Parts: sequence; C-alpha cells; structure tokens
Amino acid sequence: MRQINWKKAEGRSEAELREQAGVPFFVFPSIEKTGCVVHGFSTRLGGVSEGIFSSMNVSFTRGDREEAVRENYRRLGAAMGFSCENLVCTDQTHTVNLRVVTEEDRGKGFVRPKDYTDIDGLVTDVPGLVLAAFYADCVPLYLVDPVRRCIGLSHAGWRGTVGKIGKKTVELMREQYGSRPEDLVAAIGPSICQSCYEVSKDVIEKFQEAFDERFWPELFYEKDGGKYQLNLWRANELSFLEAGVRAERIAAAGVCTCCNPGLLFSHRASRGRRGNLGAFLMLK
Ligand SMILES: [Zn+2]
Repeated sequence: MRQINWKKAEGRSEAELREQAGVPFFVFPSIEKTGCVVHGFSTRLGGVSEGIFSSMNVSFTRGDREEAVRENYRRLGAAMGFSCENLVCTDQTHTVNLRVVTEEDRGKGFVRPKDYTDIDGLVTDVPGLVLAAFYADCVPLYLVDPVRRCIGLSHAGWRGTVGKIGKKTVELMREQYGSRPEDLVAAIGPSICQSCYEVSKDVIEKFQEAFDERFWPELFYEKDGGKYQLNLWRANELSFLEAGVRAERIAAAGVCTCCNPGLLFSHRASRGRRGNLGAFLMLK
C-alpha cells in the first residue's frame, strides 16, 4: 500500500483505510463483521480524473469528463467488490426523502437515468443492488440489519441532520422490513469535523428546536462574532440513538474531509471547486 498522510480527528476513529487494486478506500470493521454486505467509502486517490477532480471523482454533474468518471466507478467496483451495472444512486438535494429500492431500480443513475428526484437516502432488501450516495463534507450514514437482511444509506448535510434523516432511515427499515433498531449496525462516515464546520445562528436555532437542551453543549459552541461550530457527527449519532440503535453498534469514522484535503474532497476546503466522494453499500 502506498504511503498516505492523513489525520484522524480527536476521539473515536472506527474506520480503516485500505487499498485494493491501487484504489484506497475506507471500511468499517464493524460493518464488515456482519458478513452480509460489501461496503466502502472512496477517497480522492486511485482514479483518472484531472485538475480539481483529481483523481477519483464520482460526480457526473460537476463538469468532469464522463469517460473519466465511468472509469473511476469501474475501479471502485473492482476494489470494493461490486459491478457498476448494479448501482442505484441517490438524487441528493438536502431533503430527508428516502426511496425504497427494488429490483426495477437496478442501474439507475449509472447505466440508466434516474426516474426519481430529491432522494437523499436509500433502503433495500434486494441482494446485489449497490446503493450509492455522494459527499464532500456532508455526513454518510450506513445502516445494516444482519437479522432481517436489509440495508440503508443516507446523506446528511446540516439540513438532513437537523431533519434526522438517520432516524427516518431506521424507521423506514422498520416499516418496510420489520427491522428491530437494536439489531442494526450503523456507521457515520468521513465528513466535516466540528472544528472545521462554522455555521450561523439561524442554523443553530434549528438544532435547538430539534435536539433537547441537555445535548446542546455537545452539539455546538459559540465563538466571537456570533458564529458557531457545529458537531454533525454527534448530532447524527443522537439521531440514531433516538431511533433505538444501540450506542455500541454505532461506529464513527472520525475522519474529517476538510482536515484532509489531499485524501478527501471537501467543499469547504476547496471553496466548491471539487469532485465527489462516494459511499457504497450492497447486500450480499
Ligand atoms: Zn476538520
């Protein structure tokens, strides 16, 4: 494996950086241990894209060459262990809308156009379908139910986080597949850390409405000038806990996109000139 310099955030770090077929990516050992899924989170290394997209960009809509993006997906599939024709992609617009993915969605967003819009999370119980979602500071949320054999993958920026998309994903898995929250294995992927994530007061007010006052000191602090630093990792963990997921079954990557601009795409670190990272999750 090549030498890659990157830093973990303070506190918990339960993801592992791995390299397969020349492609580095993160995995969660706790999710791997369930034995029932293929999963991973890409880095910006190991692809063929150039310039601001260098090199492993998975976005078709930010100006990168389509052939380069397709090759990047092919490499990620070879490294993580999935086939691109089985991808099913989100259509992310910072909502808390979820889609129940079925066989007829196979390939949507990669080999076929999507026929849905405004979908920030996906759930399925169909083996072999590869759920895919995209990030560059926002929070990837993975859910695996090894008992009922179903999965969920969501995208949480501050809007999704305050709207508790993680909790909503758990609830949808309950409704659709009979999942018991206590059986779920969850993970919070690489995304922006509290020290890097400055927000304004109107954002904080929404978090004050959504989360009990006793959690506020863990979620944000005020700085001079009326700005705040917001902890999206803890907020998403609280959202999972509220849904009944067990604390010891929630893994946190503890890897900040913005603190590691050489390894990961970060919207804030690049001032918007960047590609996308991908989260992938497939039931075996
Ligand atoms: Zn950071």
